Amino acid sequence: MADKVIPIHNALRPAPPAPRYDGAQRAGTAEGPLADTLGRTMRDLRISVTDRCNFRCVYCMPREVFDADYKFLPHAALLSFEEIARLAGIFVGLGVKKIRLTGGEPLLRKDLPRLIAMLAPLGADLTLTTNGSTLVKQAHALKDAGLNRITVSLDSLDEATFRAMNDADFPVARVLDGIAAAADAGFAPVKINMVVKRGVNDHQVVEAARHWRDSGHILRFIEFMDVGSTNGWRMDDVIPSAEVLRRIGEAFPLEPVEANYGGEVAERWRYKDGAGEIGVISSVTQAFCRDCNRMRLSTEGSLFTCLFAQHGHDLKSLLRGGATDEDIRDRIAAVWRLRDDRYSEIRTAETARQRKVEMSYIGG
Ligand code: SAM
Repeated sequence: MADKVIPIHNALRPAPPAPRYDGAQRAGTAEGPLADTLGRTMRDLRISVTDRCNFRCVYCMPREVFDADYKFLPHAALLSFEEIARLAGIFVGLGVKKIRLTGGEPLLRKDLPRLIAMLAPLGADLTLTTNGSTLVKQAHALKDAGLNRITVSLDSLDEATFRAMNDADFPVARVLDGIAAAADAGFAPVKINMVVKRGVNDHQVVEAARHWRDSGHILRFIEFMDVGSTNGWRMDDVIPSAEVLRRIGEAFPLEPVEANYGGEVAERWRYKDGAGEIGVISSVTQAFCRDCNRMRLSTEGSLFTCLFAQHGHDLKSLLRGGATDEDIRDRIAAVWRLRDDRYSEIRTAETARQRKVEMSYIGG
């Protein structure tokens, strides 16, 4: 393809300016909680453990780009489990309360339960997002290793629609078996993510609600986002959460539920008849930047302060260059203090076209 889009982490890009750090100012001291330029405190850390995936979801890793010639990161470039655990410990020391392992498909990373067992003692809420394809085999080992919660992505219950979306000919039944295995292992309620794309799976919204009502699991509808530069995002393809709620509410009346904690990304709703709850994640139509408390650690150890970022901050060279925990902690704190991202609030057609880092690399 003549004008094939090269995902940003494989392209040459200028190095970001190093954050300025006043060495006398240490993080997490009597100064109080670490806050960014907009007063937001760090709470969640997402760690991408691999940039590879066995699916080619059309809105995330389109096959035309992530094809047989695509250069995924070599193993030596990936952070080791020891490096990830060391960084995670430093993040927890800076106030992180929740860690989510993601990717790519995190369950493709060999021996992932070993990493989970290394992270569990940190005491953060330890969660994982997966396409569910290998959960039947892995769910019990993940639980035994100390994983607290699981989110499974499943965009449609209709066979043809799901296979077309994952573009790997993967059947619905195997994901449903994976969800059942997760529940059996003790992960219930499982959260189920459904990205809604107009004309692709939006006809399945009410059907999905009907299926998961009364199951004890929590279905969450995600607006199609302009992450990365390869998924051909257009505003016209976004189904606003308000429309999802209207369609479901007409079939099964809904009422709002209080957030579990400040900065929770999913807005919660419950069925008035007591059949459980759903969530909507509305990054496009109702930006939640002002409460965003997330850091993202890429597969190769770059730190990103926004899902829609163009640049990361290299931590791997610190890890591999003999830096002390305190040096690394100070670098992370400096990055957070200078953070001013609010991409979703200022999104325009033009910013949507800008080259941004891919979700499979930064971690979804
Ligand atoms: N492979 C795992 C999975 O499928 O859940 C974890 C990584 S995936 C990138 C994490 C989540 O991001 C999935 O629920 C996926 O559907 C969602 N996602 C990916 N691209 C998206 C986009 N452009 N807009 C909205 N959600 C997206």
